[in-house]
Amino acid sequence: MTPNEFRQWGHKVVDWVADYMEQVERYPVMSQVKPGEIRAQLPPSAPVKGEPFDAILRDVDRIIMPGITHWQSPNFFAYFPSNNSGPSILGELISAGLGVQGMLWATSPACTELETHVMDWLVDMLGLPASFKSNTAGGGVIQDTASSAVLCAVLAARERAMDWKGNLDGLDGRLTAYTSTQAHSSVEKAVRVAGLGSRNLRLIEVDEQFAMRPDRLAAAVAADRAAGLRPCFVAATVGTTSSTAVDPLPEIGRFCREQGLWLHVDAALAGTAGLCPEFRHLFTGLELADSYAFNPHKWMFTNFDCDCFWVADRASLIRTLSILPEYLRNKATESGAVIDYRDWHVQLGRRFRALKLWFVIRSFGVEGLQEKVRKHVALAQEFAGWVQGDERFELAAPAPLNLVCFRHRGGDEANQQLLERLNSTGRLCLSHTKLNGKMTLRLCVAQTNVERRHVEAAWKMIQEAAG
Ligand code: PLP
Repeated sequence: MTPNEFRQWGHKVVDWVADYMEQVERYPVMSQVKPGEIRAQLPPSAPVKGEPFDAILRDVDRIIMPGITHWQSPNFFAYFPSNNSGPSILGELISAGLGVQGMLWATSPACTELETHVMDWLVDMLGLPASFKSNTAGGGVIQDTASSAVLCAVLAARERAMDWKGNLDGLDGRLTAYTSTQAHSSVEKAVRVAGLGSRNLRLIEVDEQFAMRPDRLAAAVAADRAAGLRPCFVAATVGTTSSTAVDPLPEIGRFCREQGLWLHVDAALAGTAGLCPEFRHLFTGLELADSYAFNPHKWMFTNFDCDCFWVADRASLIRTLSILPEYLRNKATESGAVIDYRDWHVQLGRRFRALKLWFVIRSFGVEGLQEKVRKHVALAQEFAGWVQGDERFELAAPAPLNLVCFRHRGGDEANQQLLERLNSTGRLCLSHTKLNGKMTLRLCVAQTNVERRHVEAAWKMIQEAAG
C-alpha cells in the first residue's frame, strides 16, 4: 500500500468508524451468532496473493460485524465497560502510524517522556499521593492491563521479602499473599504466575458491604507467621468487580506498614472517580500503598489497552524487573538521567500508549472528564432509586458509584431467566454476579455517550421483562 493508497483507504476507514459511532445503537448489543459461525465464513487458508482493500473492508461488514458485541453502545451496561472516544482512537491511529517501540528512552525519547509527564499529570488530576510522582522515589508507568500491574506488584513484593534473592535462587515456598474474597481473579493469577501458588493466597472474609475485614486479615497474617510462613503481599480493592465495594485502606495500609507487607491497591474501574473531589474519600489511605493501578481503558474514554500503574518506591520495581543484555546498552541508560520503561514491567517491547491518553486528557480537559463521570454516577444513582421504588426488586449491595447490583425478589432462577430474556432482545446488555451466594444482576453506567434516555429505557425493559 503506497502512502497515497493509504490516504485514500484511511479516509474510507475513518468514515467507516465515524458511521459506526453514529449508528452503534442500531446493532443488537450482544452478538447473536452461534459458536463457529464466524470461522465457517472464513477461507481455510490464507490468501496466496494480496487482495484488494475494498474486498477486505466488505468482509468486515459481512463477516465480522455480525460477530461483534457492541461495547461502545450506550445500551451496553454489562461487566465493567471498555469505553473509548474519538480523541483516543485518533491517538491510537497516530501511535500505529509511528510504529514506535518504546522499550528504552533511547528508542524514542518522546514515548518515554510523554508517558512520565502524563502519569504525573494524572497524580494531580486524581488527587493521588505525591509519592507516586516521578520527581520523588516513586513514579508511574502505563501497562497493558490491571492484571499485568498486579503481577508486577506481586513480583516486587516477592523480591523485597526475599531480600532480592528470589530472582537468582528461586522461591522457598513459604511466601504468602492476602486479598479479599471479592478481589478480582487477576490477583490470584498474579500469585500463581509469580510462583507463590494459589494455596498460599488467603482470601480474607468481607463485611456486609463486601469490604475486606482488617481484623480477619490480621488474624490470617498472624496465623501464617505462627506457622513459619512469610507473609509478603496484600491486594486491596477500591471498587470490586462484583459490587464496587471499597476495602478500608487506612486500616489495611497501617497494618501492612507495621508488618512490612507490600500493599497493592486495585481500582481498575473506580480509579477514574478520583477525577472528582467529591469521590476522593473512597481513596483515603492510598498514601499507605506501595503500588496502585487503575484502567483508563475502563471508564476514562481511552480505548483498550491502557492501565496506569504507580509505585511509591520505583527502585523496588526496577530491581525486580531489570535485566540488561549487551544489545540494549546505550549512553543515555548509562548516564542514569533517563527512565527506561522496559524495567518497569514483564515484557521488553512497549507501545506508545501515552499518546492516546494525552489526546483524551487534552481534548476533554479535566472539567470535561469530570462532567462525564458525574453524569454516569448520577444516572446510576437514579437507577438505584427506581429499583428501590419497585417492590418486585431489591438492591443487592451499596452503590457508591456507577454500578448498581440488584435482583428480582423471585430467586435465582427468576433472575437468570430475566437476564437471558433481556440480553436476547439485543436492545441492551447486562451481566450478573453472585453476592452472598445469590444471583445478582449488574448494571454499570459508563458508556462514553450514555444518556438518561438509555438508562430509562433499560429500566422500562427490565420492568416489562419481569412481568
Ligand atoms: N481489577 C478489577 C477490580 C477489575 O474489575 C478488573 C476487570 O474487570 C481487573 C482488575 C482486570 O482488568 P484487566 O482486564 O485490565 O486486567
